[in-house]
Amino acid sequence: MMFSSIPGLHEVKEKLIASVQTGHLAHALLFAGKSGSLSLPVALAFSQYVHCQNKNQTDACGTCPACSKSSKYIHPDTHFVFPLANTKNEKDEEYFRSEMLKKWRSFLLSQPFGNLAEWISSYGGEDKQALIAREESREIIRALSLKPFESRSKIMIIWLPEFMHPSAANGILKILEEPPAQTFFLLVTNAAEQLLPTILSRTQTVHIPLLGDEDINGYLQQHHPMEESKRQEIVQIAEGDLNFALQLTESEEEPHQTRFADWMRTCFKKDFAKLITASEAFHELDKLAQRNLLTYGLSMMRESLLQVSGAGKISRVKGAEEKFVHDFSKIISLSKIELIARQMNEAVYHLERNGSAKMIFMNLSLQISKAIHP
Ligand SMILES: [Zn+2]
Repeated sequence: MMFSSIPGLHEVKEKLIASVQTGHLAHALLFAGKSGSLSLPVALAFSQYVHCQNKNQTDACGTCPACSKSSKYIHPDTHFVFPLANTKNEKDEEYFRSEMLKKWRSFLLSQPFGNLAEWISSYGGEDKQALIAREESREIIRALSLKPFESRSKIMIIWLPEFMHPSAANGILKILEEPPAQTFFLLVTNAAEQLLPTILSRTQTVHIPLLGDEDINGYLQQHHPMEESKRQEIVQIAEGDLNFALQLTESEEEPHQTRFADWMRTCFKKDFAKLITASEAFHELDKLAQRNLLTYGLSMMRESLLQVSGAGKISRVKGAEEKFVHDFSKIISLSKIELIARQMNEAVYHLERNGSAKMIFMNLSLQISKAIHP
């Protein structure tokens, strides 16, 4: 992974490159961003840059032997630790480890911006109880006790340390504080607040913000040609999450606009029989489409909020959406929009935790009806 393959984040990249160039590099870095930020790709690009034998002021060279290995994630001086879920206790630990590492590499190659759920489903695990096992701390210490093979530095990338078993986390404290010479820890987290304070205090945080709309727009334009209006819609729904934008690009789903507007109209009419039918229809959608519908709904609530608060001029909606926002804003107050948005967010939360989609949508429909007609 090269820095140039990652859209946006110019400031972060420049700072990291400068720290390598000037040799002012903390030995333990925490790449911290929200879920959907490109923290892992940045850590991967950073390690390729460190190992590169011919780096320049803006990126690794991409062609030297070290880059060739880094780009396939087989550089012998870059080590990986990542969460696993529902794997049986393999008798042959060594064999299991090397098999999972192969799957990890092919995941990074095929879905460089992928998330935890995608990693776990890529090797057939279940999206539950992901964990970095307690034995991993032993493995980390063992890997780092060796001299570098080819590079001047050794790099240990720990993806999602918030999933570390507490004894694994405690097990690495000492080496994190006093690592062997020329060793760099890159901890890549989506939930820094869940990490042990003793881990946080031993690392220097590099904040990775979500991408801007223009970065996602540019990336899609370059890599996934499509109609302008569809791209705009995806950019708006993705809210800085490139991986989500790519999922939306692949989904064959119809635009949610009609479905969402119909649903709100039915809530307004308090047509309960029709709301039950609609909830059943939502239940039949796949998980991504369910999430998209709600994310789209949230973006419409935001637009309505702008409209009601008199800031409609900065609104981004056009055409049928504009009409929806206009009509909806007439029948609803600021506080009610906020209430509905909160309930939609809660529904997203429950969907992600495998709640029954039918119940979640029915419950949400009733709450929206109630908010519109107190
Ligand atoms: Zn190179």
